[in-house]
Amino acid sequence: MDMFQSLPDPQSAAHWCRQQLARNKQIGYVPTMGALHRGHLSLVECAVQDNDVACVSIFVNPLQFTQPDDLQEYPRTMQRDIALLQQVGCKMVYSGTLPQFFPEVADVNAMLARARRGDLPSHSSVAMHGLEGEFRPGHLQGVWAIVERLFDTVGPCNAYFGEKDFQQTLVVKDLAKRFPHIKVVVRPTVREPSGLAMSSRNSHLSTAQLRVAAKLYQALLAAKRAWHDGVRNADEIEWLMRSKLQDARIRVEYAVVRDTANWSALPPNDTDGTTWEQARALVAAYVGTVRLIDNIALN
Ligand code: AMP
Repeated sequence: MDMFQSLPDPQSAAHWCRQQLARNKQIGYVPTMGALHRGHLSLVECAVQDNDVACVSIFVNPLQFTQPDDLQEYPRTMQRDIALLQQVGCKMVYSGTLPQFFPEVADVNAMLARARRGDLPSHSSVAMHGLEGEFRPGHLQGVWAIVERLFDTVGPCNAYFGEKDFQQTLVVKDLAKRFPHIKVVVRPTVREPSGLAMSSRNSHLSTAQLRVAAKLYQALLAAKRAWHDGVRNADEIEWLMRSKLQDARIRVEYAVVRDTANWSALPPNDTDGTTWEQARALVAAYVGTVRLIDNIALN
C-alpha cells in the first residue's frame, strides 16, 4: 500500500498526481484552507470512498481575504490536520506559498494588492454577483484564481466541495466548465448538534457566542417552515429571517432568498410558485467580530 505523503509545494503535488494517473488511479481531491473539522473530513471520506486515491490541499489563500487582519487571524493547525487526514485514509496532502502557486507572476505582492482592491480579473460567472460578491468584493475572484491553479495542479479528478459555501460551489462549477476532466461533487453541510454549520472560524467563538451563532440555522429553519406552510413571498421570508437574527442581537449582512437556477432574486410576490422549486435561503452575519455564512434549500 502507498505511504501517506505530505508534500511541501504544488510542483511535487502535480508530480504525485501524474504518477497516480499513469497508474490508472482515479483521484479524489478536496481543496481546503486547513484547520480541519468534521465538515472537511466528510468530504475527504467521500473522496476516499469514491476514488482509488484521495488527496487534499491546505492553503490559506491570501487572494480571497479582503482584510489583512482576517488573513492573519485565520486558524492554522497543520500538524493536527495531517494526523486527521492520515486517519481517514487520505494519501497525499500538499501546501505551498503564493509564489509557489503562481511562479509565473513576477510580483506576487502586487497581485495581492490587486486582490485586496477587488481588482483581479472578473470572470463570466453570474454567481460572482451579489451576496458574497457584494459584501466581500474580490473574494470570489480570489477563489477563482486559486481553484483554477489547484485544478491545474491536480489535473483530472473528482473534486469535492461543501454546500456550506453555496455561492462558491456555483462559481466553482462555472470554472470547472474549463476543465472537462474534473467533476465537481457538492456535499451537504455538516453541523454541530446545535445546528451551527461547522466552520474553521467557529474556533474564534466563545461558548456563549457559539450558542448565539446557532441562531443562524434557526433562522434558516424558520424560512424553510414558512415555505412549507405555503409562503411564497420573498420579502416575508427575508423579514422573518432578519427578525430572528436581530432578536438574537446578530448583525445581519444579508438574509435573502434566491432562485438558484439562475442566481436571481425571487419575485417578491409570486403567487404561482413555479420559480420557487430551487429556492434557497442564504445568510451572512456577524457574531462578535466573526463573520458566519449558512444556507438551506427551501424545497
Ligand atoms: P475551507 O477550508 O473553509 O475553504 O473549506 C474547504 C471545503 O470544505 C469547502 O468546499 C467548504 O465548503 C467545505 N466545508 C466547510 N465547512 C463545511 C461543513 N460544515 N460541511 C461540509 N463542507 C464544509
